[in-house]
Amino acid sequence: MDIIFDLIEKERQRQSHGLELIASENFVSENVMKAMGSVLTNKYAEGYPGKRYYGGCEVVDEVETLAINRAKELFGVDYVNVQPHSGSQANAAIYLAVLKPGDKIMGMDLSMGGHLTHGSAVNFSGIQYEVVSYGVEKETGLIDYNQMREVALRERPKMMIAGFSAYSRDLDYAKYREIADEIGATLWADIAHPAGLVAKGLLNNPFEHCHVVTTTTHKTLRGPRGGMIMMGKDFENTYGHKTPKGETKMMSQVLDGAVFPGIQGGPLEHVIAGKAVAFAEALDTQFEVYAKQVRSNAQALAKSMTDRGFDIVSGGTDNHLMLVDLRNKGVNGKETEKALVLADITCNKNMVPFDDKSPFTTSGIRLGTAAITTRGLKENDMDIIAGLISDVVDNIKNEEVITSVRKKVNELMEGKALFNY
Ligand code: PLP
Repeated sequence: MDIIFDLIEKERQRQSHGLELIASENFVSENVMKAMGSVLTNKYAEGYPGKRYYGGCEVVDEVETLAINRAKELFGVDYVNVQPHSGSQANAAIYLAVLKPGDKIMGMDLSMGGHLTHGSAVNFSGIQYEVVSYGVEKETGLIDYNQMREVALRERPKMMIAGFSAYSRDLDYAKYREIADEIGATLWADIAHPAGLVAKGLLNNPFEHCHVVTTTTHKTLRGPRGGMIMMGKDFENTYGHKTPKGETKMMSQVLDGAVFPGIQGGPLEHVIAGKAVAFAEALDTQFEVYAKQVRSNAQALAKSMTDRGFDIVSGGTDNHLMLVDLRNKGVNGKETEKALVLADITCNKNMVPFDDKSPFTTSGIRLGTAAITTRGLKENDMDIIAGLISDVVDNIKNEEVITSVRKKVNELMEGKALFNY
């Protein structure tokens, strides 16, 4: 047998035995896996249901239409495009649909919790567009909406981005929209991280206030690795995209065109099928129980970490994640991530707001509860986890302690299936 399958088994063992605290990861169901590993991967289907550039698309048309309709129901929206191969692809399509190269955008600074595609200098968004940023207040760790407004009025970006990869609080989309309206900017929300909690109404609704919304499907939403674009309500676009006859297009047409043929070729219909399965799972009432547990676990973990003297940025969490500022513990993010991995606990080093260390070292780690909640862990387990993390951080170079923590991690995860639903 191909060695690849040995490696897949090895990775399955790693995932089973360990504590997965990477905030952007989750464990999909067996049905999502089945859909992804299916014959749908053989099919080319450039275009959209009913308007394809290839023959034989009748079945995949049904698959994609189901995925779209389930996503519309799940988020209560009018428009969905399920074709983006990833979150970054969904975001690239927004840039193409809304802006011209060189236009100005405003997103959350990467070092404050934003994402690469929100204007980082090493990403296409920062290379092709002019970028201004907003951040959080030093004292509170909360988004500084006054500073955001000040920068927006001064710099007049054409597009504002509400979204994050490492911010533990809910967003005030109404406030963002108020500011965007003052300068006539398009407001785009990237809910890649909290999408599962947004779907179940546990966080503020971005669709009421934002022109367009993107997400990944593989984080709290617990679907296959991929992206998606949504709009609460379609609207006539105002960005100069005219048909050859000079008519303005609806935004849905502009967005569909931005995904294909704008930035992608054939859609991954096997992944779209996986998305459809995941959306059906998320529509089930059990997913609400899951999403609530994700948040309760995050709050319990933040509290237990605080009780052990860890500094949680902004003092807590409203969603599934938290940033731990390790500076008071005398260790950095890089060495902590490495030591935790040796103890079979995976998380990622992360810059904290106003970090004095580089992105390769960092002063913090980011923790999330989406994956461990899927494994069946509850609030009382969070105190155990905080204790294990604390033991590693306090004994970062002590192999004996780290080995004993690893044993406890493996015992905790023993018998807990990767798929619990
Ligand atoms: N947007 C946000 C806010 C994210 O956190 C991420 C991924 O971490 C993405 C977009 C990109 O998703 P992908 O890794 O699928 O390209």
